[in-house]
Amino acid sequence: MNENQPVEIRRLTNSLFIQWKDGVESECTYRTLREKCPCARCDAVRNEENPLQILPTDEFWEKLQIVNIQKVGRYAIRIQWSDGHKTGIYTYDFLRELTV
Ligand SMILES: [Zn+2]
Repeated sequence: MNENQPVEIRRLTNSLFIQWKDGVESECTYRTLREKCPCARCDAVRNEENPLQILPTDEFWEKLQIVNIQKVGRYAIRIQWSDGHKTGIYTYDFLRELTV
């Protein structure tokens, strides 16, 4: 049923490299991954039309790293970021869409 399965997930300097089971290789910058974080909190921030919202600085994006990647069942990974954020669960289908 779930055809998007990674055979390798590797952290590069500022992007995530994924080799998929069907041979496709994809890469996604940490910034894009984080900006698309599917957790409820980030989702709320994105949907909120708050003019006072504080946007992350360039320095934040330059320093942002992934400190841990944890498998969630057979369908997703949970990414833990260097700033402590770790509620985002990225399904393989979502990652595949992001990185095509
Ligand atoms: Zn999030």
